[in-house]
Amino acid sequence: DYRNGGYHEVFIGDVLNQQYKVCHKLGWGHFSTVWLCEILDSRRSPFPNKFVAIKIVRSQPNYTKAAKEEISMLKTITECDKENSNHVSHLLDFFSVTGRNGTHHCLVFETLGLNILNLLRLYDPTSLPQETFSVMYRTFPRIYGVPQPIVKLICIQTLRALHYLHSPPISLIHTDLKPENILLEWPVVFCIDDRQGIKNADAFFGDCNPDHDIHRHSKFKKYRIKLSDFGNSIHSPESGMAVLEKGPHAHSLLFQKPPYPPHRIQTRQYRAPESILGCTPSPGTDLWSFGCMAFELVTGRVLFNPRGKGEGDLEWNDGYDDQDDNSAYDRDDDHLTLVKAILHTDPPEKLLNAGFWSEDLFDIFTRQQRRGIKRKERELADLIMGWTKVEKELIIQQKQIDINQPNARELIYPTPVLQFEAFLLKCLTWSPVDRYSAFELLNDDWLKLTTDDYEFDGLNLIQSTTNPPSPPKRPKHRYQSGF
Ligand code: ADP
Ligand code: MG
Repeated sequence: DYRNGGYHEVFIGDVLNQQYKVCHKLGWGHFSTVWLCEILDSRRSPFPNKFVAIKIVRSQPNYTKAAKEEISMLKTITECDKENSNHVSHLLDFFSVTGRNGTHHCLVFETLGLNILNLLRLYDPTSLPQETFSVMYRTFPRIYGVPQPIVKLICIQTLRALHYLHSPPISLIHTDLKPENILLEWPVVFCIDDRQGIKNADAFFGDCNPDHDIHRHSKFKKYRIKLSDFGNSIHSPESGMAVLEKGPHAHSLLFQKPPYPPHRIQTRQYRAPESILGCTPSPGTDLWSFGCMAFELVTGRVLFNPRGKGEGDLEWNDGYDDQDDNSAYDRDDDHLTLVKAILHTDPPEKLLNAGFWSEDLFDIFTRQQRRGIKRKERELADLIMGWTKVEKELIIQQKQIDINQPNARELIYPTPVLQFEAFLLKCLTWSPVDRYSAFELLNDDWLKLTTDDYEFDGLNLIQSTTNPPSPPKRPKHRYQSGF
């Protein structure tokens, strides 16, 4: 992709805009590459930082246009966050460079640390030492994600960022919320090789040892994040606030079929049903992605990873290649079937009527999906536990639980799992108007840190007393799907 219209060719040591010396690659996305740069003459520089992160956007006209919009939105986001308290990344400067592949916009940000996908990889059980693995996963042996106290901190801060973004005067919808776009505020930055994970991590900022620093920073009180990548953000419809407060106006606005085909928004695995159907996006659209992400952080598995023809494979960062072209159904068909399999209801008529593409996906008379494979109904709590139907039956048998008694679920599942399920179901509703807002979710019980959480001290506090179970075998895919 380093060709005409693509990424800008950058070499370590290059000097950008006569003041930023390129030191290291920090990351990349569908739109850009991001580089750690040293400020050459920091006395002349208007900001106190010694290093900055520079996002160099691809040169194709659509990317350039998007970059201009990103700059204008970032200006407002940065200016209105004077106290730096809303967990959003700040723009410091911008300029453009011209190279062999065209002219590229460059956005200068404060330097942040790992993104949350890198963090998930650190906690991948197959990459952990046996002992650590057994300590972390003793209580809920099938939950392999990031430890829950840390997930809660990430969730709280992400919700604060979303609340800030969704409310006036900003009134934006992020439309690409996913682990790659949330960054840790660690002072240490690692460059992670996509395939090798942390083992080959190349640490810099002094001579820190990556293992050492990960452990030091795993004290969860230090976890601070910032929401970033506003390259796909859009303005809320005029009545953004009405939509946020879910007034009657919100209903009429959200349930109006757009007159022209809407843009495809969100990355496949985090895409809300209304986006699949082609309805007008709303702040609630971000909350769906948030729910999918929270599930992934806790379990280490992707909640919805639909199969079929069409865009959305996990193997590539933003997934636009490697399509399953021989299938008789589209990825959209399977995606909606998967949603139905955990919500146990059909999409409401109002929502279908408001979707530009609904008729391609659903028969308008029977209201049934036109294509798709059958998917078994699943309980969200089972997906959280990583239980198959058979495994769940076994647990019920072993514990001799009568599933007809009213509190059966409380006997089957641990309380935190039921709390987490309830939390997720506030984000995962067919209709965006039924979803909780970021602000409302901040009051949820699951998010409240308990005394147990405070005693949690990263990877190495609790000592294992039982024989360590062996780490599970992992599929070759980035993560196993929830289903
Ligand atoms: P894109 O729009 O191309 O997806 P992003 O803004 O998401 O670009 O940046 C791509 C990746 O670069 C991120 O996932 C992150 O790993 C890294 N990155 C972006 N901004 C910063 C920053 N300020 N500090 C450190 N790393 C960053
Ligand atoms: Mg990104």
